[in-house]
Amino acid sequence: MTDKNVELTKSEHEWRNTLTPEQYQVMRQHGTERPWTSPLNQEKRAGTFFCAACGHELFSSETKYESGSGWPSFYAPMPDAIGTSSDTSLFMERTEVHCRRCGGHLGHVFPDGPRPTGQRYCINGVALKFEAKK
Ligand code: FE
Repeated sequence: MTDKNVELTKSEHEWRNTLTPEQYQVMRQHGTERPWTSPLNQEKRAGTFFCAACGHELFSSETKYESGSGWPSFYAPMPDAIGTSSDTSLFMERTEVHCRRCGGHLGHVFPDGPRPTGQRYCINGVALKFEAKK
């Protein structure tokens, strides 16, 4: 991933001190949480999902759906929320998704989502913070 379009930059030392070990492993080291472990899989309330690292608005509950993958899934991000890069690790060609503001890794996007976009944003729940609409 290039960090040239990222607005908020911190040293890896700073990220290590501000994120939990699980968040650091996913968001700064492109890790993947185990499927079916995030409490946000079950989150059905109206509200907004923010970047766990920097608080940037990423996804609305209106685009969340049950994909059956074991990770929180959305069919579209909020405007200007995310950036993407090509990920060719694990002998696959995938599109990596990160927070546009801080560059924190979120997950991947696949072209097998529901209408209206046909996209599936497969996101690590540990990279998200949910706030219910008041
Ligand atoms: Fe962020």
